[in-house]
Amino acid sequence: MNESGNQNIRNDTAATVALLKDPGRETAIIIHVNPDGDALGSGLGLLKLLNNMGHPCTVISPNGYPDFLKWLPGNDLVLNFRENPDRVHAVLKKADLVFALDFNEPKRMGDIYETFAVSSAHKVLMDHHPDPQDFTDCILSDTSASSTAELIFRFIRSSGFLQFVDADVATCLYMGMMTDTGCFSYNSSNRNTWETVASLLDYGIDKDAIYYRIYDNFSFSRMQLLGYSLSEKMEYLPAYRTAFIVLTRGELEKYGFQVGDTEGFVNYPLSIGGIRFSALFIEKEDHIKISFRSKGSFAVNDFSRKYFNGGGHANASGGESYETLEATVKRFRDLLPVYRKELLDYEI
Ligand code: 5GP
Ligand code: MN
Repeated sequence: MNESGNQNIRNDTAATVALLKDPGRETAIIIHVNPDGDALGSGLGLLKLLNNMGHPCTVISPNGYPDFLKWLPGNDLVLNFRENPDRVHAVLKKADLVFALDFNEPKRMGDIYETFAVSSAHKVLMDHHPDPQDFTDCILSDTSASSTAELIFRFIRSSGFLQFVDADVATCLYMGMMTDTGCFSYNSSNRNTWETVASLLDYGIDKDAIYYRIYDNFSFSRMQLLGYSLSEKMEYLPAYRTAFIVLTRGELEKYGFQVGDTEGFVNYPLSIGGIRFSALFIEKEDHIKISFRSKGSFAVNDFSRKYFNGGGHANASGGESYETLEATVKRFRDLLPVYRKELLDYEI
């Protein structure tokens, strides 16, 4: 049980806290593949906190991430595994402590896992996804947390480390919370979330600037791709309360696709009244990346795990397919009648 009586929490971080009390620990933080705002915000917030406590730290990302996430304090301390595999191996080899943030299964760190698995470092998982797997020494997991960033702030507070929080730490953590809750529109009905926001504001963060750096910072071509996706590529299936978007590589190229340009597209179909299941299919070089979102009780993480090698949260999940785009979309379409009852049964 945590400080506020929440029974969803698994917390055995006492050994981690004890290790962090002596300065000079070599630390590393691994975030998940295709990092989102919460992965980067919780990673860089924790990095700055550890630095302030006297621990050298590196954030390791399995691959690249969008430009709109590159303004955070400490961004130049992120190592991209795709670009620097040797440096990542070296960092993990000398690390005393390694944190795994914002994912619940080793697969989400990609090939880094081979080096992580043989590292003798003390390993800690901090995450808010359901059913965390057992691949670290310690786990701090709470599915009721809005975000890993919120969980990290609560960890800092309950461990007595608040004196090491500064505006940079607070900015990163607030960004993680804001992006994982769709600007506090979902996953944010718990008072811990708002108490955490109130505490972060006390560190003098500029919350409006954080908002516009993320949401008012798109390229012209990305806006045009969004317009095209909504007007030409969205399929609306009210009989299943479902709408989805499929984008081919050719279409992405036509709009000068840059990493992150389709971030958030999957949320748009859900803003149609009555729609409670949305999907986005993106054709990548060697696979199809899929995002699912839902409203209400239809659990898209189960759906994604069962049919599309994925997982995530009940209302926000992702997956992948190694079939063609056509075959993948057909499989999805064919599943809708199977779930018709679940999709129609729910009232908002
Ligand atoms: P997104 O659609 O934004 O890529 O991902 C939505 C949520 O699903 C995030 O919480 C993300 O961590 C999770 N997720 C995305 N792709 C995968 C995947 O391939 N496997 C698992 N287990 N989770 C995923
Ligand atoms: Mn998250």
